[in-house]
Amino acid sequence: MFMKLNLASSTTTKRLCILKKTIDDVAAKIDRREKLFHSTVWRTPSCHLSNRMLLKILLGFLCGVGASAAENDTAQQGPPPLLLVSFDGFRADYLQRFPMPNLKLLYSQGVLVEQLTNVFITKTFPNHYSLVTGLYAESHGILASNMYDPVSHKHFHIGNDTDPMWWNEAQPIWVTALDSGYKTAAMMWPGSEVTFRNRTATHFLPYNSRVTFQERLGNVTNWMLGDGKEQGAMFAALYWEEPDRSGHMFGPDNTTAMSKALKEVDDNVGLLISELKRTGLWGRINILVTSDHGMAQCSADRLIRLDDCLHPNNYTLVDLTPVAALIPKNDPEAVFALLKQCNTHMTAYLKKAIPDRLHYRNNERIQQIILIADEGWTIVQRGNKLPRLGDHGYDNSLSSMHPFLAATGPSFRKNYQISSLQSVDIYPLMCHLLSVPPQPNNGTLNQARCLLTAETCWNVPLMISLVVGVLLVLTTITVLFRLLSHRRPSGPRPFQRLQVDDDDDDDPLLE
Ligand SMILES: [Zn+2]
Repeated sequence: MFMKLNLASSTTTKRLCILKKTIDDVAAKIDRREKLFHSTVWRTPSCHLSNRMLLKILLGFLCGVGASAAENDTAQQGPPPLLLVSFDGFRADYLQRFPMPNLKLLYSQGVLVEQLTNVFITKTFPNHYSLVTGLYAESHGILASNMYDPVSHKHFHIGNDTDPMWWNEAQPIWVTALDSGYKTAAMMWPGSEVTFRNRTATHFLPYNSRVTFQERLGNVTNWMLGDGKEQGAMFAALYWEEPDRSGHMFGPDNTTAMSKALKEVDDNVGLLISELKRTGLWGRINILVTSDHGMAQCSADRLIRLDDCLHPNNYTLVDLTPVAALIPKNDPEAVFALLKQCNTHMTAYLKKAIPDRLHYRNNERIQQIILIADEGWTIVQRGNKLPRLGDHGYDNSLSSMHPFLAATGPSFRKNYQISSLQSVDIYPLMCHLLSVPPQPNNGTLNQARCLLTAETCWNVPLMISLVVGVLLVLTTITVLFRLLSHRRPSGPRPFQRLQVDDDDDDDPLLE
């Protein structure tokens, strides 16, 4: 699809340039005619001149923009390798609240998307799989941290997640890129140790929290460099579990604790930059630094107790907070009615009524009733114990749930920012950067292409329509002006036309 877009763009550029040349030629001919018949022209020549000039300027500009993009396309011999890094639970506004000098250095030499609208539910596994598939959770099938599959009757929990059955509804990019002849790598990214139709990334290591960031990074750079005999990985994904762990433990409002956690994250970004420079990869590869979700402050004063509303014998609990998934045991409508009025800070939905905007309905693993807590509220079954001071999973329209995206490398603009992007758009962007045909996905390249140096944000069909529109308006004005001028009562016309034709041998009156 993207090759077609590039081709279309290149063809449009050529057509614009041909059109401009044609107009230049025609304009030159008209100039010659006007010089010849200058004495007969009593209309306003400056009007035609300005129309033509405007059109030439517009077409010249479009031709120049397109030619520049085409030159950049052809100048590049094969795509640069791509490194995708996720710092789990990096809430977008941490960038404003904390210094982060290394991360700011990285995106000052590239681009920043201030907020990514991630997918519902705003949990780690659904969002990490969305980043590498471009799909909403209902489409890739990793719907929560705890799932029940009614077909296989299997249960999914973090820590018991490597059964390929759960992951095989969507093909991750580290498998897709293999089909383009690339080596790929995934370091502890959720789902990367699971086989997808008997395939994994060329290189991967299963999750192990005791492996330091530096050790993970060292492996990734070795995989990207290759060893002389084996080609380096063209795509690599690297996962790190902070600042999510500190966010849960202390809550995002604990400035002292989060400052320390984010200083460590920024130090790791510094390690990333220095290791890429040491190995010669810096400046040669494209780097995306992002996250899966944000974090909200929770409180023991904001608990929703399910036991206050109905007895637990009435349902089977699949997942609890901040999005609970329940299977009612008896009368689903009666259970739903009790849950619906359980707490003003919790919204209950029957599966069929889950709002379209959440893209969280069309999958068998979504249970018959889901409950969504308001921001900062925690669902428990009973008691007064708050499980975590910070949590995520809430509605993905909340800015506290949004992560960010920073990127740098030869394909990206320098010192450029946009305010928002959909996280499902990152997958088509990565496929474009790698020249890999994307799998069907929920994303689009329309907005993400603005981040790239070789692309223009201009909508070429719109610009062509604009030029044609301006041309039509100018032509209409000119025609109207001429018609009105012809109807204008006038005195005796000068007879220059007869003077020009004085030596016309065909004039019978002169015979
Ligand atoms: Zn996470």
